[in-house]
Parts: sequence; C-alpha cells; structure tokens
Amino acid sequence: MRYLVLSDIHANIEALEAVLADPPALLCDSLLVLGDLVGYGADPNAVVERIRALAPIAMVRGNHDRVACGLDSADGFNPVARAAAEWTVSALTPDNCDFLRALPPGPLEVDRLVEICHGAPFDEDAYITNERHALGALRAADRPVSLFGHTHLPLAVEWRHEQIRLVGRGPRLAGMLPLVDDARYLVNPGSVGQPRDGDPRAGYLTLDTDARQIHVHRVVYAVEQAQAKILDAGLPELLARRLSIGQ
Ligand code: ZN
Repeated sequence: MRYLVLSDIHANIEALEAVLADPPALLCDSLLVLGDLVGYGADPNAVVERIRALAPIAMVRGNHDRVACGLDSADGFNPVARAAAEWTVSALTPDNCDFLRALPPGPLEVDRLVEICHGAPFDEDAYITNERHALGALRAADRPVSLFGHTHLPLAVEWRHEQIRLVGRGPRLAGMLPLVDDARYLVNPGSVGQPRDGDPRAGYLTLDTDARQIHVHRVVYAVEQAQAKILDAGLPELLARRLSIGQ
C-alpha cells in the first residue's frame, strides 16, 4: 500500500493542487489527512470539497477545523488566527461545515503499521517539535509508525532499543527514510498550505508499507495566486506575507 499523507492544508487550494499533481503523489493508492483542512487561507470550501472527493481512507480533525465548524471557540488563537477563523466560519457552506464537524479526533489506527493524529497520540492539540516531546508521543502510540501534524514543521524521530534519534527536522528532512522492523517512528510531513520551516514549498510525504519506506517531498506552487486571494478576501496581510518566506 502506498499512502499519500497530507497535513495542515489550511484552505490553500493552490498548494493542494500542486501536491496532488506531483508525480510521487499520483503513484499513491490511498490518502491520509492529518487535520487542519481550513483556517488561514482563502479557499476553505474548495479544499474541503477536493479532499471529500478524494475519499481519504483515514482523516482526523485539527484545531482550526474544530473552530471553523463551531465545535470550539477561537479564544485560544492569536489575533491573526482568530480573524482568519471568524472569516472561515462565515465563508464555509453548511454542508462543508457539517463535514468538518463529523471528523474524528485522533489517534486513528489505519492498519497494523500506521496510525494518525493531529497533534500527538495523547492529545490532539499537543505540539511535538523535538525528540524530548517525541518520546512521550511514541510511548502513547499503538502502532510502529505514528504520523502527526499541527506544528507545520517536518520532523522524523526514530525510537529503537530505547534510544531516541532525530532523523531530521525542517528542510533537512528530505529524501527517503527507511522504516526498520524493530523501531518505532513519529513523523510529521510538514504543512501543505502554510509551511513554517523557512522553505515556502508545500510539504507532504508518501509511505510505502510494502517497501517500508517514507519519502519526504516538497513541491513548488503558485504562492502569488494564494497570496492574492488572501488579500482579496480581506484576510490579515500577514497571512499572505508569510507564505513567501515559509514562516
Ligand atoms: Zn495547522
């Protein structure tokens, strides 16, 4: 099985389409989505509808999805995120709102090898950014490969023979990651729609369960187009600016 793994699309349809058209993504059999389809970007309905049409075999909600569909308030968000969340609430169609409302919290078991969550297996809102945080998440995971998002930072940590090892983080996490039989992994594909590791390209990964390999990918997309839509929608200008620097 070859999984296409997407996280933190954040209503950026240009980034999503570029990823879906990327040759490694086209070779995948099934889609996994790690949450935050909406929030920040100007195309929440287009993104939700595109993902719905692709029928992911597993998908969890993110914190922005919860706020966008009224399951949670934006009180914990910073002013920019709150302004974007309020705009998203007003823009989402009732049907797409219902769809987000029905998304399950993680962790969700996909098969014997893989599980997915938004933040961490023990808390859907936790931020895992380093090896120390990762150990707690690895201990809480039920499957050898735990895929998560939320931080918008590509990260891979290996736990083998009680040793924790940072495989890579940010733009340095690139290429192929072999999955060793007697190890456990915690892997973040980075963000499709709002990368924050200094690389503005959309991030995603592919996971081949037969070859036991993960490949980390980055793809160029029409950043200027996504930025123009954010400005046209009256969303905070910062949300457009950060896309060109990947922050
Ligand atoms: Zn996010």
